[in-house]
Amino acid sequence: QKFVYDFTEGNKDLKDLLGGKGANLAEMTNLGLPVPPGFTITTEACKVYLESGAEPPALRFEVGAHLEALERRMGKKLGQADDPLLVSVRSGARFSMPGMMDTVLNIGLSDASVAGLAAQAGDERFAWDSYRRLIQMFGRTVLGIDGDLFEEALEEAKRERGAATDVDLDADDLRRLVGTFKDIVAERAGRDFPQDPREQMDLAIRAVFDSWNGDRARLYRRQERIPHDLGTAVNVCSMVFGNLGPTADSKGGGTGVAFTRDPASGRQGVYGDYLANAQGEDVVAGIRNTVPLAELERIDKSSYDRLMEIMEILENHYRDLCDIEFTIERGKLWMLQTRVGKRTAAAAFRIATQLVDQGLIDEAEALRRVNGAQLAQLMFPRFEEKRIGDGGAERIGWGIAASPGAAVGKAVFDSYTAIKWSRSGEKVILVRRETNPDDLDGMIAAEGILTSRGGKTSHAAVVARGMGKTCVCGAEELEVDTKRRCLSAPGGVVVEEGDVISVDGSTGKVYRGEVPVVPSPVVEYFEGRTHAGAEDADELVEAVHRIMAYADRVRRLRVRANADNAEDALRARRFGAQGIGLCRTEHMFLGERRELVERLILADTDTERQEALARLMPRQKDDFVELFEAMDGLPVTVRLLDPPLHEFLPDITELSVRVALAEARKEPHENELRLLQAVHRLHEQNPMLGLRGVRLGLVIPGLFTMQVRAIAEAVAERRAAGGDPRAEIMIPLVGTVQELEIVREDAEKVIAEVEGTHDVSLDLALGTMIELPRAALTAGQIAECADFFSFGTNDLTQTVWAFSRDDVEASFFTAYLEKGIFGVSPFETIDVDGVGSLVRSAAEAGRATRPGLKLGVCGEHGGDPESVHFFHSVGLDYVSCSPFRIPVARLEAGRAAM
Ligand code: ADP
Ligand code: MG
Ligand code: MG
Repeated sequence: QKFVYDFTEGNKDLKDLLGGKGANLAEMTNLGLPVPPGFTITTEACKVYLESGAEPPALRFEVGAHLEALERRMGKKLGQADDPLLVSVRSGARFSMPGMMDTVLNIGLSDASVAGLAAQAGDERFAWDSYRRLIQMFGRTVLGIDGDLFEEALEEAKRERGAATDVDLDADDLRRLVGTFKDIVAERAGRDFPQDPREQMDLAIRAVFDSWNGDRARLYRRQERIPHDLGTAVNVCSMVFGNLGPTADSKGGGTGVAFTRDPASGRQGVYGDYLANAQGEDVVAGIRNTVPLAELERIDKSSYDRLMEIMEILENHYRDLCDIEFTIERGKLWMLQTRVGKRTAAAAFRIATQLVDQGLIDEAEALRRVNGAQLAQLMFPRFEEKRIGDGGAERIGWGIAASPGAAVGKAVFDSYTAIKWSRSGEKVILVRRETNPDDLDGMIAAEGILTSRGGKTSHAAVVARGMGKTCVCGAEELEVDTKRRCLSAPGGVVVEEGDVISVDGSTGKVYRGEVPVVPSPVVEYFEGRTHAGAEDADELVEAVHRIMAYADRVRRLRVRANADNAEDALRARRFGAQGIGLCRTEHMFLGERRELVERLILADTDTERQEALARLMPRQKDDFVELFEAMDGLPVTVRLLDPPLHEFLPDITELSVRVALAEARKEPHENELRLLQAVHRLHEQNPMLGLRGVRLGLVIPGLFTMQVRAIAEAVAERRAAGGDPRAEIMIPLVGTVQELEIVREDAEKVIAEVEGTHDVSLDLALGTMIELPRAALTAGQIAECADFFSFGTNDLTQTVWAFSRDDVEASFFTAYLEKGIFGVSPFETIDVDGVGSLVRSAAEAGRATRPGLKLGVCGEHGGDPESVHFFHSVGLDYVSCSPFRIPVARLEAGRAAM
């Protein structure tokens, strides 16, 4: 086994072994681009170290051999006193990870070699500057010393000198600073700064290995489901210097970052920043003002031209946007890093289609380059950046973008006020230091939520995402004072209760005042409206259109909507729905129909019951007629009544008060009393596990047959009107085939009757939800009696985990997420190993019984990107989701099919 690869030996496909940075350094080396020579220690070496607690014995030897080769090539030895070879030690895992060790530059410098470097460069100041940087970085990242101590010492040195920035310190200042830094090391690390260059390098390599198991890195991996055993690679790279002076000639240079095109819009052009006389992170650290990359053309034309040429090579080679780190030393350009760059959602779509037009990628690849999460982002309304200041709005804070969207409202500081104000028609933003379960109602009432504490897994973030509500959390520079009901921002800005604020859950930015909101051009496009707004919108819409068309062409999964009324159904159709996968019938029991439901529940005799049902039936039928008309020609799956009956009865306390009052006033209250008894009778400790779904159908005579009749009559009516209704009847909460047999027998009788009356064949399919573990486990039997299955993954998740969906997100999911037990709620993304394996085996068993059994899923998971891929992989026929998620599901279904 080989643990060390020279940059000339690797390539970009070896990311698992060499990490992202190492693989791409090798790729650039092989492309003949100017990369400072070096080598990469593999993730395998790291794994051995992590497992055994010691570097593999061969590693020391191999590193030695590669170092020697590097020394021969460079004509000097690491840390050689009169002319030192210096290197950087850089971490580089497969995925970049917060909490991993930073890079240490200038390894090889010591009290002895600093003079050699000065002599070679003819620049004393440069040598001492490099040395102080080494001690600073080494102290912080390898020896674990608080970095502020070094920063403070540097500030102090500048103060003494009256220097504005670090470049104003001269060689003597820096020499003194090195002394101070060494004292800090000795005091804090209990050892002197190592003078042996090889020891410096080995300690740095080990520190990179160790950082793999740092707390932050571990937590991040658990949440992101990155395996803990991948390990990190380490890159050792000979140093090039951008801090030799500010000029472009043989004496100076600088360092910079660049993008091959604009990561925000996708447009081609010159994007990046440059900083003269600087090293490493200076350019992004904000210690001095950078200049736009375009100015490099003026500063150093030949390096600029070379950079442009290299960027084109890279983009053509990677066939994608690349970001780049470079350094110019004495007028020579060096490439220090490249990778396929991050980009905004809009840029992702635009770049993908631009590259198709350039002939660099095909449409399939374009589809791979975007994803549903990006599309979802593009579908939220946004604040109109250009007009932020128009109404006097100003940015007052910047937190974590926890749940996307643009919310505007009056600031309120407690849930009670949020509820009260929103009841009277005000839009409010709930502002809290952090939220807890008591804030739930306030969060529901608010347009958006803002907290000053907590991260992406905080209570506010988790609950807001679950509700689809805009949320910014952890806006730390904002101080929330719930007692005084105000919010203070830096610069003395104070937001009082009732002041309007605007919260951008997509960027994390918080504004005082009202920022104009623009609808998403992408949604306008799906809705078939022309959009108003930004000039970029046309290009974006065109790109989305093209990629969606391609996804639709290749996907195998059909996409249906969860919709209960004609309006939602029509909207869903515009968004591309190919039917309705779940029409809930419970809303048909609300409003003015409640009274009929009460009568149904209170009926003492069959006649009374029949009468109530007979009056509900035509109303239900009319609802269905509308729905079938809206979805004409496409399947509509109607679920028979699911929730427990008590949900349709008055609240128990309210009713008790009514009864007591009537009693006191000696008014007749016989009905109320009976109702109250019924409420008591129907009361359950665990309604979700109680009398609901098919159980209702079996216990309340005539209920399900009434619903079936309404559906059948509606179909007959639409047929007579020349329509093409395609109804499917779905029985919820079935646990055993016996339940289904009874319901089916009754339903078939009713259907036959209706068919007889109207003299038509209605072709009604009768199927069931699979949403209980028992149903999944006995799916083979259930399929004997079902024309289709629809997996109800919400209830299935609830029952498989024994998690109450209504409670857990607000109570202990935060803790679970923080502990990394899962990275995302199983109600958001299907739990493939648990719930998913039941889905898979039930699908197989069902189809074994009844080949061609139609399989779908209706549940929030139907619109979740990762889950869609899973449903594709188990061979379902369709997913069904809320109308708004349909484009996301279409896109991901296309991506899953590739
Ligand atoms: P990160 O992963 O944080 O980008 P890097 O390993 O890329 O860390 O290094 C941090 C900074 O140091 C970057 O600006 C990089 O360009 C610079 N750097 C790294 N190695 C060298 C080197 N051998 N010579 C000069 N600059 C370097
Ligand atoms: Mg870098
Ligand atoms: Mg259910």
